[in-house]
Amino acid sequence: MALDPVPSLLARATDTLEAEFRHLPGYESAICETAIAQVLEATAHRLGDNYPYFHPLYAGQMLKPPHPVARAAYALAMKINPNNHARDGGRASSEMEVEAVGAIAAMFGWREFLGHLTSSGTLANLEALWMAGRLAPQKRIVGSEQAHYTHQRISAVLRLNYEGVAADGGGRVSLEALEAELRKGDVGTVVVTLGTTAIGAVDPLEQILALREKYHFRVHVDAAYGGYFGLIASNLEEPARRAYAAIAQADSIVIDPHKHGLQPYGCGCVLFRDPALGRFYKHDSPYTYFTSKELHLGEISLECSRAGAAAVALWATQQLLPLESGGEFAAGLACGRRAALELDRRLREDRRFQPLKAGGPELDIVAWKVKAGTAEQASDHAQAIFDRCAAKQLHLALVQLPQSWFEDSAVARTPTGTVTCLRSVLMKPEHEAWIEEIWQRLSAAAGETVGEWTYPK
Ligand SMILES: *Cc1c(COP(=O)(O)O)cnc(C)c1O
Repeated sequence: MALDPVPSLLARATDTLEAEFRHLPGYESAICETAIAQVLEATAHRLGDNYPYFHPLYAGQMLKPPHPVARAAYALAMKINPNNHARDGGRASSEMEVEAVGAIAAMFGWREFLGHLTSSGTLANLEALWMAGRLAPQKRIVGSEQAHYTHQRISAVLRLNYEGVAADGGGRVSLEALEAELRKGDVGTVVVTLGTTAIGAVDPLEQILALREKYHFRVHVDAAYGGYFGLIASNLEEPARRAYAAIAQADSIVIDPHKHGLQPYGCGCVLFRDPALGRFYKHDSPYTYFTSKELHLGEISLECSRAGAAAVALWATQQLLPLESGGEFAAGLACGRRAALELDRRLREDRRFQPLKAGGPELDIVAWKVKAGTAEQASDHAQAIFDRCAAKQLHLALVQLPQSWFEDSAVARTPTGTVTCLRSVLMKPEHEAWIEEIWQRLSAAAGETVGEWTYPK
């Protein structure tokens, strides 16, 4: 395993933090180190029962190890355990949250905005849809059928009407289907996904904004996964590049620093273009006796207690790796993107596999079908290759995709119209250097199954 720099970095910073409080009288705390050490040993063994998410051979789901600076800063903050609900609970960490969120908004081209961190993309989207409901209570919310399933569920929680709209063969919302919904005149908000969870498809935001001129609705951009890819727009294809160029015109944006932003879980972010929307959060709390006259983050957030440590970790990460095109953070995204393009290229040259007919990956997620005479066989083969890869320590993912996204008109439709495919999210910068090794293991796993079936030409 790679050397872990966090313990020694953390020990030094902890001394510095303790020195900040040296004016306090000493006190005894009743902890038994031997007992803790024993429990930690047991904990470490229990944690061994996991896929190796930190390793480059883990190339399955959306999992990216937090940066060492984020881990160390989070652990350092645990000494304080700040609560960013109010400045009373976390003075420094509230300031750090305001600065970190400001840097994310600036990445989208916003200087004036309303925004804060949340504990997840789900909660961030919930606030955005809650706001949509407050502004247009009688109207519907629509989003592509490839939008994250959370929108459907959140809308049910909020008692808002949500409807899915057909997607095209590349996983992007169909503009014809969307306009047909808009013509009905009762759509208040359109959810636009920049980077779908399944395959990283980028909805045509620019064209949707043009429709907004005609039909007048709110545009909520769910960029929980793909929000950072605007930093490497020049590495993207034209349609995705145009979508990212238009992002500043959205009404609200969600991004998950705990997906591509190198953060531990517990770090989502919601942004509203109009700062005046803060009025909707008004509450009259008898419990929180605010001691500072400055804005408390709890006054512009639906969640009450929130991990100040999440803000500290994000702030520290952005100090080390600013959100700049051409910077080191952007370079890391570009590595994963190149890894995805290289994997897609190899898949297209291999007669055993069948990539999407619409084209290569828009971001850094690759999904492909296994060639077979029937969709059921293709699904079984995907499962078999997935299992064999795992036995070779290569961890991929499986995903159900519409059969219509693949080029085989002759294949009969399954009852659901979907087929199980292999999927790889190449989020780690190390994936680029490991793509040869990943391919060798995948190819060998597929080769070992050849004895069990023959691939059609
Ligand atoms: C991951 C994701 C979500 C949900 O975010 P969580 O942080 O998992 O709660 C929502 N939308 C998209 C596009 C996502 O990729």
